[in-house]
Amino acid sequence: MSQKLKILFVASEVVPFAKSGGLADVAGALPKAIAAKGHEIVVVMPRYYGIDKRDLEHIPGPLGVPMGSMGELWAGVYRTKLPGSGVWVYFIDYEHFYGRSGLYDENNMSYPDNDNRFIFLSKAAFQLARKIDFKPDIIHANDWHTATMPVLKETRYALDPHFVDAASVLTIHNLHYQGRFYKGAIDVLEVGWDMFRPEVLEEYDGVNFLKGGIARADAVTTVSRQYAREIQTPEFGWGLEGHIKAHSDKLYGILNGVDYEEWSPAVDPYIAAHYDIDDMAGKAVCKEALQEDFSLPQRPDVPLIGFIGRFVEQKGISLIAHILPRLLEMDIQMVFLGSGEKWAEGFFSDVAARYPDKVGTYIGYNNALAHRIEAGCDLYLMPSLFEPCGLNQIYSLRYGTVPIVHATGGLEDTIENFDPYSRFGNGFKFYEASPESLFNTVAWAVKVYYDDKRGFGILRENGMRARFSWDEAADAYDKLYQMLYYKQQMKRYR
Ligand code: ADP
Repeated sequence: MSQKLKILFVASEVVPFAKSGGLADVAGALPKAIAAKGHEIVVVMPRYYGIDKRDLEHIPGPLGVPMGSMGELWAGVYRTKLPGSGVWVYFIDYEHFYGRSGLYDENNMSYPDNDNRFIFLSKAAFQLARKIDFKPDIIHANDWHTATMPVLKETRYALDPHFVDAASVLTIHNLHYQGRFYKGAIDVLEVGWDMFRPEVLEEYDGVNFLKGGIARADAVTTVSRQYAREIQTPEFGWGLEGHIKAHSDKLYGILNGVDYEEWSPAVDPYIAAHYDIDDMAGKAVCKEALQEDFSLPQRPDVPLIGFIGRFVEQKGISLIAHILPRLLEMDIQMVFLGSGEKWAEGFFSDVAARYPDKVGTYIGYNNALAHRIEAGCDLYLMPSLFEPCGLNQIYSLRYGTVPIVHATGGLEDTIENFDPYSRFGNGFKFYEASPESLFNTVAWAVKVYYDDKRGFGILRENGMRARFSWDEAADAYDKLYQMLYYKQQMKRYR
């Protein structure tokens, strides 16, 4: 029998309130899908400077947060509902930690007190659950920011009747970011120096939040099955592969869904014309509009290739940079949207200036343009060196924009390589993260575009038919929660 559960879901960013990457998309969508299964779920996040208090409901009375050697700090609490749902999002308001222009960093420099900022969030979530009398069956933490919650549950809050029956889940959205800090954080956490061991929080005489969470959570999930396998290897484990392997019996891969209410060419408010699999005429209009956005020649016949993402090594920007001059010898157009590493911002801007007929670059964050790129392009480039799940390749499928991807993580799980004979598949994949492989695969895709129009059309249709829904992902999380709940019940009778 499926049990109705209470879930405390804590994340450092949640769409539509604050976003730097895929974590926010998940934290804004998964709780709604979980609630739709009949569970009661509340979301907790910081009240960053950019979130206007006037749009939120104030919860009277301050929230005391014990911060160990820093003493007790007092936060304000606000709340509102996730748009289009009955799910409450609670905001922890503390000017000193969250009244800044960035979420984690400014001018590419991490805030030096990120350990305290997110210990604060993690502890505030426990305190808040008590304050609003929400006794969770499941505590669901996300990424390094809240990864100390499973450790806190077993130490600082171990004897608290409010949490004794709770099980903990930690979802890793990106293992690259682990939360490594000076060991003094142990005294702020108040988890006891017994936790400062290599088996739990200690790493090279410092603390590693994610490591502790992996050790102490009742279950650890990652956002695709392939990524769950990969992070147990030195290539993708960022030093934690041994630790993760040691805990692999509680490791699960659950693929993210996407929000098709936001990302569907039939309803998208940002694009020049709507279209769908039965009537693709609008896609040509979107292509023309995108070429105009980037001042490119408005040619319907030329393959237009898009890239959207953070300009960081993870996204394969160096691979692209290596081969770009050679790629541009082909009759193609390319558009780039993103920001991040300065060399890349300069490089992609320069290329656009040098090849104005072939390349368009927009440096910055622009959601509307991201939608227009998905709709207007023929091909989408995602050569990530590693990719826990990845969203843009899934959006591309829906928009009939054929992805070219490196076979890693979620890209491996969602994209099936084109087979020119059977015409199965939904994209183009390469298996070695080298400039040569990327070049050959883009060249192959361009050749199919020009020479096998029927095959390319089938690829498009195959992608547009596929669905990666949150409902399906929520089913998997629900099963996991249920299993943990019953395990927890068994413990009581032992
Ligand atoms: P990650 O979380 O590693 O950044 P994902 O593919 O999982 O990568 O998610 C990235 C999300 O952020 C997508 O929704 C993507 O469209 C969006 N995004 C990234 N960079 C930009 C940008 N410069 N402008 C608009 N949207 C962006």
